[in-house]
Amino acid sequence: MQFQIPKGTFDILPYGTDELWRLSHMWQKAESVLRKTAADYGYREIRTPIYERTELFVRGAGETSDIVSKEMFTFLDRGERSISLRPEGTAAVMRAYIENHLGNLGAVHKFFYIGPMFRYERPQSGRYRQHHQFGVEAIGVSAPEQDAEIIDLALQVYKRLHIKNLKVLLNTVGDAASRETFRATLLAYLKPRFAQLSAESQVRFEKNPLRILDSKSPQDREILKGAPSILDSLSGEARKHFEQLCRILDRFGVSYLVDDRIVRGLDYYNKTVFEVVSEDLGAQGTVGAGGRFDGLIASLGGADKPAVGFATGTERLLQVMVALQVPCERTDAPLLYFIPLGEAARMKCMELATLCRHAGVSSIVEMQAQKLQAGLANAVKADALCCAILGSDEMEQGCIQMKNMQSRETLSIPFDDLLPVMLKKMLR
Ligand code: ATP
Ligand code: MG
Repeated sequence: MQFQIPKGTFDILPYGTDELWRLSHMWQKAESVLRKTAADYGYREIRTPIYERTELFVRGAGETSDIVSKEMFTFLDRGERSISLRPEGTAAVMRAYIENHLGNLGAVHKFFYIGPMFRYERPQSGRYRQHHQFGVEAIGVSAPEQDAEIIDLALQVYKRLHIKNLKVLLNTVGDAASRETFRATLLAYLKPRFAQLSAESQVRFEKNPLRILDSKSPQDREILKGAPSILDSLSGEARKHFEQLCRILDRFGVSYLVDDRIVRGLDYYNKTVFEVVSEDLGAQGTVGAGGRFDGLIASLGGADKPAVGFATGTERLLQVMVALQVPCERTDAPLLYFIPLGEAARMKCMELATLCRHAGVSSIVEMQAQKLQAGLANAVKADALCCAILGSDEMEQGCIQMKNMQSRETLSIPFDDLLPVMLKKMLR
């Protein structure tokens, strides 16, 4: 019996796939840019478990959110506790912040996380059951400058990965007072159209009408075209925050489009919400999204602290990079590829390679091919920078023949000089 990977998941491979976004060096490149960008903005890494008590996500994202109502991988553990694989990162980061009393260690905290998320979705291009997210969270600042910093960080990530043709769609969902007003206006608009709403939105009508704005059903989208705008229901405070944010972004030269239909899929957002959309991804065009969630920490049992965050999907990032043909070379290619010809030569190559490796000069020893041509072909496959060829003549002379795989130049080097020469090369 041959096993198959579970539906909606994929392997990330060092080679052997035409889907370039599944190549591991692409992931390494993206992840190193994500980490460096986070560090440049003062965000430090936090790692939380892959699973949490189900209740955390229910309280966090909210009962009527897509992820909680239909996408979670939930099971009872052997102690009969309801556990869920994390569908998103924010709730767990806030749980960790509260549980570890990080609030006692300063007024402002900035974190980033990177790792897999799990959602039971209908698999399709850009939509998987295990996907990966990079996210940032800033806790403690209610000023709109903080929202602007996060939006700029998000755009900087894409810029550094050479992703172009992006749009920032910006909106505000106001504060509790704004949403209360808007809820009434929206319900008044939807009530006479209730029968035409999708079954799902009919449920949301009772439980959380704002969520209807996030519906992907075509019939709902048609009805929503004439719906009132939340921008007309903003309280003075919420309006001021939004206007200030727009002003700061203008000053940064960040271009954005105000889109009053964006409410985001999770219940915890307030005030600022935004999405970053690519024109190069087709149906699954949203590469990243974020917003402010001032009430979340308190609702999870922590202090009343404001917070704002953003998350981007790694698969979609890489897929846009591939669509845009962003060059992405391997960073793990070996410097040296030893090709021994004969038994004695192999032993000597092992010895030299070990010396090189211990000094940080990456080396591979050909273990299979008996002939030079086959060895060279394998070196090409490995993307090696140099080949070090050792036949019986070289063994006698105590030298190794070096071949630069790009320039094709060859050079004979005494065994003892190999490591110093390679180290010098690396410093250059
Ligand atoms: P969508 O509307 O596409 O379902 P979402 O609102 O559910 O997105 P978020 O919860 O904001 O997405 O997740 C942040 C990012 O993670 C998304 O912008 C997207 O890039 C990525 N993402 C979300 N779900 C998936 C998935 N199932 N497969 C791959 N990437 C995903
Ligand atoms: Mg979704």
